[in-house]
Amino acid sequence: MSNTPTPHAPGQSTRSIHGTTLKDAHGAPHLPTYNTTTFAFENTAALLDVVDGHTPGALYTRYGMNPTTFALEETMAAIEGAPAALAFCSGMAAEMAVFAQYGRDGIVCLGDAYGGTLELLADQLPLLGIETTFLLGSELDQLESLLEAGARLVFFETPTNPGLEIFDIAAISDLAHRYGALVAIDNTFASPVNQRPLDLGADIVVYSATKYLGGHSDVTAGFLLGAAELITPVWAWRKNLGTTIAPEPAALLARSLRTLTIRVNAQNASAQAIAEAMEADARVNRVLYPGLPSFPGHELAVSQMHGFGGIITIEVDADGKTSSRVADRLNLFALAPSLGGAESLATQPVTTTHHGLSPAERERRGITDSMIRLSVGLEDTVDLIADLTQALDEVTR
Ligand SMILES: *Cc1c(COP(=O)(O)O)cnc(C)c1O
Repeated sequence: MSNTPTPHAPGQSTRSIHGTTLKDAHGAPHLPTYNTTTFAFENTAALLDVVDGHTPGALYTRYGMNPTTFALEETMAAIEGAPAALAFCSGMAAEMAVFAQYGRDGIVCLGDAYGGTLELLADQLPLLGIETTFLLGSELDQLESLLEAGARLVFFETPTNPGLEIFDIAAISDLAHRYGALVAIDNTFASPVNQRPLDLGADIVVYSATKYLGGHSDVTAGFLLGAAELITPVWAWRKNLGTTIAPEPAALLARSLRTLTIRVNAQNASAQAIAEAMEADARVNRVLYPGLPSFPGHELAVSQMHGFGGIITIEVDADGKTSSRVADRLNLFALAPSLGGAESLATQPVTTTHHGLSPAERERRGITDSMIRLSVGLEDTVDLIADLTQALDEVTR
């Protein structure tokens, strides 16, 4: 090793704190919240400069042309290592904008997606003539013929919910690109700390920032990231659908991003320990967690992820009713949908995220009544393991 300092790119935590160049006139370490809808100009020439895009600047908040929004997007782009970012009022709003711009020649949705995503693709978008074909992981061999037939957008999550199934981002992106199709990945579960799809060949990254990026269960927001040529056309959809993030949630989210790396790394470590403890507990049939060598997607996860995340799905060795009692007996894990916050949450997919599906469809997707999905928060790991262990006493009660 040489002692000469070599110039190097700053790490992700550093970028999360110093990712924006926007500063106020007083030297505030954090850009104040510009809770304003519009911005005044010295004269018409100055206004036209901004309107025509010759000078970057604030103009109107719904356009996203607000310093708070700019600072948030710059920071997020720096964290992801993406050339361009757009912030939305929710994850669904970000998805809708991608589907509207890039889904019109047909979408292929792989694996289990978020319930709202499945509904939007299956029920609302066909009303606008946007058609989606759904393929499970076991049907991946049909992707090429759908691309051949003209589908131009491949959309998926990895890891998926609640099975934590891992899809090969690089291989799927290669295949899609051979047919001129784009790949958009919902990276909500992994966060940019654990997985950076653009580095693996994907074209667009979508986030529900409501989860790990916000991290405190107090802000609803979304993001799109990718090359400027792909993200810029989506801007007009956001502007005219009116789905831009508002300044106050944008400021909250910008604050949360400063601790993203440290939070997610802590959640990774805690989840790994909890997954191992659950695997060793005889009252648990199966533990689905990408960090466990026993997990079917483990090798692939090792090859494309930097960490395995804070979501674990356990299958209790009991029927669905007993599993509900286990969930009800948890004290630290709150019984709630959602994920990614500082507080741990537990949810039984059959009663929440996948409640609307028929038993046959749940079975086809490998979702059982005794599954409980855990979102590991930031409490002490030993306390979380103790909570799960006492709740599992319901199995033998
Ligand atoms: C929550 C979630 C969404 C939807 O995000 P909202 O911010 O609630 O609109 C989309 N995808 C995944 C994977 C999610 O967990």
